[in-house]
Amino acid sequence: AYEAAVAARNKDDLRSPICCILGHVDTGKTKLLDKIRQTNVQEGEAGGITQQIGATYFPVDAIKQKTQVVNTAGTQEYKIPGLLIIDTPGHESFTNLRSRGSSLCNIAILVVDIMHYLEPQTLESLRLLRDRKTPFIVALNKIDRIYGWEATPDNGFQDSLAKQKPAVQREFADRVQKTILAFAEQGLNSVLYYENKNFARNVSLVPTSAITGEGVPDMIMLLVNLTQQRMSESLMYLSTLECTVLEVKVIEGLGTTIDVVLSNGILHEGDKIVVCGLNGPIITQVRALLTPQPLRELRIKSQYVHHKEVKAALGVKIAAPDLEKAIAGSRLLVCGPDDDEEELAEEVMSDLTSLMESIDKSGRGVCVQASTLGSLEALLDFLKVSKIPVSGIDIGPVHKKNIRRAATMLEKAKELACILCFDVPVDKEAEKLAEEEGIKLFKADIIYHLFDAFTAYNAEITEAKRKDAAPQAVWPCRLKTIAVFAKRDPIILGVDILDGTLRVGTPLCVVKVDPVTQKKEIIDLGKITSLEINHKSMELVKKSQAGGGVAVKIESAVYQSTKMFGRHFDDKDEIVSHITRQSIDVLKSSFKEDVSMEEWHLIKALKPVRAL
Ligand code: GDP
Repeated sequence: AYEAAVAARNKDDLRSPICCILGHVDTGKTKLLDKIRQTNVQEGEAGGITQQIGATYFPVDAIKQKTQVVNTAGTQEYKIPGLLIIDTPGHESFTNLRSRGSSLCNIAILVVDIMHYLEPQTLESLRLLRDRKTPFIVALNKIDRIYGWEATPDNGFQDSLAKQKPAVQREFADRVQKTILAFAEQGLNSVLYYENKNFARNVSLVPTSAITGEGVPDMIMLLVNLTQQRMSESLMYLSTLECTVLEVKVIEGLGTTIDVVLSNGILHEGDKIVVCGLNGPIITQVRALLTPQPLRELRIKSQYVHHKEVKAALGVKIAAPDLEKAIAGSRLLVCGPDDDEEELAEEVMSDLTSLMESIDKSGRGVCVQASTLGSLEALLDFLKVSKIPVSGIDIGPVHKKNIRRAATMLEKAKELACILCFDVPVDKEAEKLAEEEGIKLFKADIIYHLFDAFTAYNAEITEAKRKDAAPQAVWPCRLKTIAVFAKRDPIILGVDILDGTLRVGTPLCVVKVDPVTQKKEIIDLGKITSLEINHKSMELVKKSQAGGGVAVKIESAVYQSTKMFGRHFDDKDEIVSHITRQSIDVLKSSFKEDVSMEEWHLIKALKPVRAL
């Protein structure tokens, strides 16, 4: 039936594009949405804007009305039947509206605060948009905050700008220039939308104010133009069903329901549907397809309008049995009479099982938990790029069992015994258990922040480990005595570094070989307690720094065994670091990155010392 419909290219089968709003917190995403949704009361119903589940639908009549001020010549073409704008701003809905790595969101608005330029979540949004190859425009919001801005409510932007004083126009131009530069640093060409000659190459900047409404008509017009240019013909018409679960919600009288976005195709009451569940596939039957009651019908008792069938694109609530374990972000498939139920079940579950592949085979790694499939996927992608291993994943709130799982890492790798909680609550008992067990919980709703917090923690742990291990670490060196300042208690010598580096704390020795028996004897001199070059005290001296000689103070902790220059050793003896098997292990485990190839060679050469 769908194929036939597509073939007929019936105007009724035109599909509306789906639009998401992304951007940093407080840039004005919510306010912009409110502004777009606002209907002009004086003109009555604004061409049938309808509130749906998780989305607002703008039929083309409403779009025409809202773009009137920037279409004074009346030459604008409107080919799309309408526009579906997702109501939840931010990453979550965007990351969830996906199908096999591509996006079901046809166009996006990236909101940037013109007073703040690019912020961390702007960059994160940018990355997501590029990964999913989603066309987008940039709303350069809060133009009314430019000092001296005089507002003309709901005006087209260019007209409003022309009315500003020269100083205001200059500041605006300056801020736009800075924004363009910041985007260029991210490898992105951007240009004011009315100067954009090539939509495919340059991202359009549309200045807006969510408060005065200026630039909002321009923004909507731009969405229309961009979708019409960039959406392929096939996407303009209804075809195969594409549907995503955005939220799982318990509703009084309906039980657990799922809020879905139907991005393509048609859904019917009674359809057999298949979704991904936490404990396996869920196969159930649509009991009701629901959208909210229009505002003016509020006196009607029921909160929802029932539909026999719904067509893409729209947001709809599905009531059906057995949805308790459904996962937000899951795809929804319809099982037709000729379809193999098992196959479809496997397909929807593959969204979760494919994420399982991110789990490190070594069994070492952090645990990761997110609110939805989409946000989990985004986080896992990020961790992969950042080379942070993952040992376990889950979706939904953090419970005690999640803490217990993370605790298994305490013995294997303490620094990985933690949970990165992305946009999920942690229940009280779990929090308590985590504290008792020493499981670190990182909570954030920005991937960057999670990553930064974890990286900082990791560095802290590594540093602490190094501090602990430092006294046991022995760095290799070979020295030649060139002057004697004190023969014993403590020994103070002027030395040349033949090889390696000198550090305070390194134990030094001399190796004597008996000329008759060839037996080796180690004479421990003590540890380096201070280093000086030209009376300047140093913690560490490299060979290259030691040209004129280094004064080395050597002290033995064990008084009775103090050695004396001239009696136990002299300037013919080479002084070397006292390396042991244990000291090598410490270097390997805590300082691996700091030991150079040459140093490893030297350690190897000095190793016979250890054998004794
Ligand atoms: P969100 O976090 O991106 O959804 O941001 P909001 O829509 O909640 O807006 C954050 C704050 O900025 C609120 O106090 C808004 O009133 C304010 N705001 C949003 N848009 C504008 C704008 O265009 N001009 C001005 N002056 N304030 C704005």
